[in-house]
Amino acid sequence: MITNKTVDVIIIGAGPAGLFCAANAASTGKNVLVIEKNPTPGKKLLLAGSGQCNITHEGPIHDFFSHYGDHGPFIKPALMNFPNSALISFFREHGLDMVTTATGKVFPATLKSTDVLHILEQECSTYGVTMQYHSPVQEVRHTGGQFFVVTRDTIYCGNSLVIATGGVSYPGTGSTGDGYHFASSLGHTIVGPAPALSPVIADGYQFGDLAGISFESLHFSLWRSGKKVGSHRGDLLFTHQGLSGPGILDYSRFIHPRDTIRLSFAGPVSKDQFVKDLTEKIATHPVSNVKTIVLQYKVPERLVATLLKLSGVPDDLTCAHLTKQQRNTLVTNLLEFPVIVAKLGGFNEAMVTGGGVSLQEIDPKSMESRLVQGLYFAGEVIDIDGDTGGYNLQAAFSTGYLAANAIITRK
Ligand SMILES: Cc1cc2nc3c(=O)[nH]c(=O)nc-3n(C[C@H](O)[C@H](O)[C@H](O)COP(=O)(O)OP(=O)(O)OC[C@H]3O[C@@H](n4cnc5c(N)ncnc54)[C@H](O)[C@@H]3O)c2cc1C
Repeated sequence: MITNKTVDVIIIGAGPAGLFCAANAASTGKNVLVIEKNPTPGKKLLLAGSGQCNITHEGPIHDFFSHYGDHGPFIKPALMNFPNSALISFFREHGLDMVTTATGKVFPATLKSTDVLHILEQECSTYGVTMQYHSPVQEVRHTGGQFFVVTRDTIYCGNSLVIATGGVSYPGTGSTGDGYHFASSLGHTIVGPAPALSPVIADGYQFGDLAGISFESLHFSLWRSGKKVGSHRGDLLFTHQGLSGPGILDYSRFIHPRDTIRLSFAGPVSKDQFVKDLTEKIATHPVSNVKTIVLQYKVPERLVATLLKLSGVPDDLTCAHLTKQQRNTLVTNLLEFPVIVAKLGGFNEAMVTGGGVSLQEIDPKSMESRLVQGLYFAGEVIDIDGDTGGYNLQAAFSTGYLAANAIITRK
């Protein structure tokens, strides 16, 4: 076992939080070492936004706070200190322009995560950050005011330590929860963790054959033990096993197994108003096919065929022959189609991890541990998870930046 010379800062994890923290801390002359278990950095960053990297969201930074569940107040100082505008400027200044979608998501103009990662690596190299790949950290010790970070064959020593190891979702990218063990070995409490931004796996699912059909801004309500407990509107996707898409992923923190999600394909509209409208259309077009009338509600044609079948309405049935019972079933299926939640996707499918290092024990103005001086946290390892739309990467960059600032000014 070799003991290496002491560096100013050791950062565990070369994800966006670790790399950005490293570059910023090193930019003031600090001697920074990043230790990464994978042979290359940013494995999860490369998957972000399906490889296109939805880096942040547009709009005033104040609008971000509500996108982190109840944890908005904790992340506020980090976001205020390094907001979305600063992140966009950083990449523009490094030659990577940004584009914004109609829904406010910000992407690199090249739509390539590799370009984002390349700039982070370049920035680390410019400021002389030492990158140590292929080196899973096994253990972290704190003695005599210094941190000792143990890998397979080396013990590294640092004056400050940043744990930026990510959460536990998509473990194949390297985030396997190691940071929780390091933090708890240094006295920290770990909340959860649980999958977040998870797809829904449904029971008795009727739309497996329609996997891939997506809906813009679909309205749905959530029911538990026969009572409505919430509603939401967002983009939704049929998968082979259930429901996904940003609308479902963002709302997944409220969904429990055995809940019913009622999908409003023809809404949002009140049931009374919909029944009135449908009844009028049927009455005025007696020789038209029911299918033709239903298509007027802008429901995808393949889904209409399935909904008619589930409502016991033959494909070629004319309006004059539609029974009251068939009409009522059709109304339910079009306006409040029930999807029963078997379970939510696990860590292999969840885009982020809910839970992490407890916020009570981290100073939100510096990301420094309240328990151990010189210990910092950045990124998803902290008990912070944001909605889809760029909120998680912004949190990784903002917390990494704040930790770097605090390290630079540390006495
Ligand atoms: C499929 C997918 C798509 C996503 N898309 C988006 C998106 O478009 N926009 C968005 O905002 N968010 C997105 N996210 C979430 C976002 O990618 C993460 O929140 C973000 O990467 C967290 O950054 P991080 O640096 O904290 O952790 P990570 O990116 O997970 O990096 C942690 C690093 O630490 C390393 N590490 C862990 N343990 C050890 C150890 N013991 N020793 C050494 N190294 C270790 C890991 O190998 C890893 O490289 C997506 C997530 C997934 C899974």
